[in-house]
Amino acid sequence: MTGWVGNVRVIVILEFDVRPADGKDTAMGIIRSGDRLFDISVPVAVIGAGACGCSAALAANERGAGVLMIERDDPPAGSTSLSGGQIPASGTRLQKAAGIDDTPEDFAEEILEKARHQTDAEMALAVSRGSTVTVDWLVDTYGAPLEVLTDFFYPGHKKHRMHGTPNRDGAELLACLLEAVSREGIDMLTAAVATDLYADEDGKVTGVRIRRPDGSREDVGCGALVLACNGFGGNPEMVREYIPEIADALYFGHAGNKGDAVKWGLELGADIADMGSYQGHGAVATPHNTHIGWPSITEGGIMVNTDGKRFSHENRGYSEQAIEVIRQPGNFAWTIFNETAHNVAMQFNHQRESVEAGAVRVAETLDQLVEITELPEDALAETIAEVNDILAGRKTDPFGRDFGGKAPLEPPYYTVKVTGALFHTQGGLAIDPEARVLRRGTRQPLPNLFAGGGAARGLTGPSCWGYTSGAGLMTATTLGRLGGEGAAAIVS
Ligand SMILES: Cc1cc2nc3c(=O)[nH]c(=O)nc-3n(C[C@H](O)[C@H](O)[C@H](O)COP(=O)(O)OP(=O)(O)OC[C@H]3O[C@@H](n4cnc5c(N)ncnc54)[C@H](O)[C@@H]3O)c2cc1C
Repeated sequence: MTGWVGNVRVIVILEFDVRPADGKDTAMGIIRSGDRLFDISVPVAVIGAGACGCSAALAANERGAGVLMIERDDPPAGSTSLSGGQIPASGTRLQKAAGIDDTPEDFAEEILEKARHQTDAEMALAVSRGSTVTVDWLVDTYGAPLEVLTDFFYPGHKKHRMHGTPNRDGAELLACLLEAVSREGIDMLTAAVATDLYADEDGKVTGVRIRRPDGSREDVGCGALVLACNGFGGNPEMVREYIPEIADALYFGHAGNKGDAVKWGLELGADIADMGSYQGHGAVATPHNTHIGWPSITEGGIMVNTDGKRFSHENRGYSEQAIEVIRQPGNFAWTIFNETAHNVAMQFNHQRESVEAGAVRVAETLDQLVEITELPEDALAETIAEVNDILAGRKTDPFGRDFGGKAPLEPPYYTVKVTGALFHTQGGLAIDPEARVLRRGTRQPLPNLFAGGGAARGLTGPSCWGYTSGAGLMTATTLGRLGGEGAAAIVS
């Protein structure tokens, strides 16, 4: 039976195996399929309908494979819809049109620099090169409304290579991808949690077991599977086990990302890597829980603690700044920036949401800033004076930050009380440059399993400091595309 949810076609499988509900909704594991035959089979199954799943489905469909997407939410949202929707890529058609001279090789080198050479160089180059193709493909084939951001540099990027939607908004990006999936007639089951995979003794996946909200189950056979179900940020036990330093922080990503890919992979004999790796963010407004645009920092903004003192090089990266903020008294900081920085940040939908939520406060004078923040006046005045001395080249920053000739910190001051948060995990299934999941202890792939986005090991290295801005959507879209292509090749 076929129906529509919004503009996405949804198929309902009638021949399902109904068992009593047991109330669990996380992945349960691998069922050895033996010679089991399925009532319904699809060539390619894709679990997850975020940026990775949509890219995988579109790529497999382009190569003529029948595709079924399986997504727990109705409608799909994922971390993709929470994100800023920006994808870095080098040497794209859009960059060339903007006169930006950039190469995937240079970008790969910058990824390695950010990760202190503690990530896989072959993967960094493959994803960087693949990202050029992916962004051009999304724009040219599926009409993704991307443009290059040219008015500021994210930490870790020496060239303007961030490609964002008009409102710099992940929901806008996902809407475009889901629209393309719908237009292509790709089937999607929503409100469908994949709980188990069927696999043979060699680790070949033969099907997926799905649970419906009413507790009923459905089994679908598949010729190849792409895991696009992100990481384990939504699983507090796994976060505590693998990344204890961020376990008590706010998780700001999609709650349905519970580490299912890792759990299935481990049981299938796959390798996992960099499990302590994650993308944090040092500027989530508290208590509003909105996301402050990083140009507030790149354009000269600072963060101070309850003593009115700076405590870090704020612009080393928004990821590592999360843990710096969490380590301050009360686990928060005040970010302070000038009007120029605020205006650059206002291109982001989430900055505008923060203003609407009342998180961004404006002080016309230092007295007003003290009144809003309740910080000690003398210390705050001293900090601002020191920053302005650094900005003017009269002093060197004790934290090693190069403010790069930005405008002084002067009224009106913009200020937000912020905390650090976990945005998404970066450890996951070890894959090769074709997004094939690798067997433990070898570089050999499992027979028909692919992974991308947060389900796979990222390019961040072992911790949070290696995160290159935008690497999340870059690996989601590019490894999704490559995984979809590989899965289609297996079943053709
Ligand atoms: C606030 C925020 C801002 C960000 N901004 C950026 C940015 O600007 N640029 C950037 O590159 N990255 C950004 N990121 C990171 C980025 O959002 C992620 O890296 C990216 O969205 C991952 O895509 P994905 O497709 O792997 O996962 P998701 O978009 O999370 O999709 C995974 C999907 O799988 C589904 N799923 C999970 N388990 C199952 C299951 N068992 N059965 C069925 N379905 C399942 C989920 O419901 C979800 O829809 C940001 C993250 C956050 C939280």
